[in-house]
Amino acid sequence: MPLDAKDADPRMPYQLPFPKEALEEIVVPKAIPDDERLWVPQAENVFFRPLCLNRSQGYWMNLLKVKKSGVLSRHRHPQAVHGFVLKGRWYYLEHDWVAEEGGYVYEPPGETHTLVVPEGVDEMITYFQVNGIMYYVDPWGKGMGYEDVFTKIDMCRKHFEEVGLGADYVDQFIR
Ligand code: FE
Repeated sequence: MPLDAKDADPRMPYQLPFPKEALEEIVVPKAIPDDERLWVPQAENVFFRPLCLNRSQGYWMNLLKVKKSGVLSRHRHPQAVHGFVLKGRWYYLEHDWVAEEGGYVYEPPGETHTLVVPEGVDEMITYFQVNGIMYYVDPWGKGMGYEDVFTKIDMCRKHFEEVGLGADYVDQFIR
């Protein structure tokens, strides 16, 4: 509905309660954390920082960090992925473009790719929204495993427990 009436007081806050079924917002003041323990190890030189683990809609928002010239294993996406590069650069073995700092990437459903951080990049950080699953495959598409919001939550619990933050530290990111 277009805004057709004149708002008498544009700076007056909304006066009604939010729907009682609405979930709580998540506010992460330092998304790129100072505390290294908040990075959950995922593979050699690969880490993720959970921001929103959306179990009710089956997606997750996270920062992916790759140190040195790391590789994120070949995987297929049945649903779309959105990425925004915060630091460094990376490319897929399957495409001829490079995602640079400040760049945005949309990955359509059906993509299968292998993320590589080139030599000379000490650290890469990208904000990714991943929907559904990441389905790890061999070069000919044979399944080798998967990740979904629930395996991500499990990884966080295990890691946060190990580093002394407590298994329930992850709860603040779950909706
Ligand atoms: Fe991907």
